[in-house]
Amino acid sequence: MALNVVCLVGGVGGAKLVHGLAQILEPEQLTVVVNTGDDFWHYGLRICPDLDTVMYTLAGLVDPVNGWGLAGDTRNTLQALSRYGEDTWFGLGDQDIATHLLRTEGLSQGKRLTEVTQDLTARLGIPQRLLPMTDTPVATMVDTVEHGELGFQVYFVKMRWQPTVKNLRLSNIEAAAVSPEVEDALARADVILFGPSNPWLSIMPVLSVPGMREALTSRDIPRVAITPIIQGEAVKGPASKLMAELGYKQSAKSVVQYYQHIVNGFVYDIRDTDLQVEGMRGVALNTLMQSDADRASLARQVLDWISSWN
Ligand code: GDP
Repeated sequence: MALNVVCLVGGVGGAKLVHGLAQILEPEQLTVVVNTGDDFWHYGLRICPDLDTVMYTLAGLVDPVNGWGLAGDTRNTLQALSRYGEDTWFGLGDQDIATHLLRTEGLSQGKRLTEVTQDLTARLGIPQRLLPMTDTPVATMVDTVEHGELGFQVYFVKMRWQPTVKNLRLSNIEAAAVSPEVEDALARADVILFGPSNPWLSIMPVLSVPGMREALTSRDIPRVAITPIIQGEAVKGPASKLMAELGYKQSAKSVVQYYQHIVNGFVYDIRDTDLQVEGMRGVALNTLMQSDADRASLARQVLDWISSWN
């Protein structure tokens, strides 16, 4: 298998598939393009939750229970902040802070987020390419019924995604551009995968970068999304709740329809039936990744299915 695979992802769900792909592909065959709409400043540090989740996963360092953060990390810094009376709603592990310090230092020296990320991944011994969707800071803003517009992390972490979402907006997206590295990876891709990430919170920001849709669709190659929704439910997180709030039916079919103009293949789950959508190739696989072996198996089956297209 000498395919070049580019996988678009958010955090925890997407990282599982990326880990599966990393188990079956040579490192130079895999490039991961990650959502940065969740990124924010906190105590003067630039925090990129999705990039960190994928980076820690590929480095074998991720906390296996949460699927994010570092395994065995401690919270002494957070405790010291609460001693000052701070409301420590965002979980910063002590070791995790090292990542944010180095990233913030790199950015303050004028490096692009892509360069800083390459530096961090190289130092952690990650051989695959991990790229932010853009170098320009953008921010997903969540307009809610109860609290008006909230920054993404306030909605997601502080309020545990309980507010009712009316609308989503990407602040500063008009200033963003596809980086040369993402452009190059997409130009050389044989297959583009959309990980089983939240379509609205994780993939929509990637697709919204000016020039991204054109770069994704400029050549006629397989572009395949893997469902994050099984039997109408998200495996984790707000995807299903959000879908209802944004006026979609809570079903993998809504995900297919959302991606209809950008993908040409869809992987839905074997537990779902009747998901064939006209004009699009579809396959039912076991998409629930409960073990490392499940991840590799799904990655292999997705690529095998795609290679059977011709
Ligand atoms: P986040 O940014 O950390 O929320 O991560 P993502 O957007 O990448 O992933 C969240 C999505 O992953 C949720 O909508 C979940 O339903 C989905 N997800 C998580 N684990 C699995 C899994 O094992 N299989 C499938 N099909 N979807 C999953």
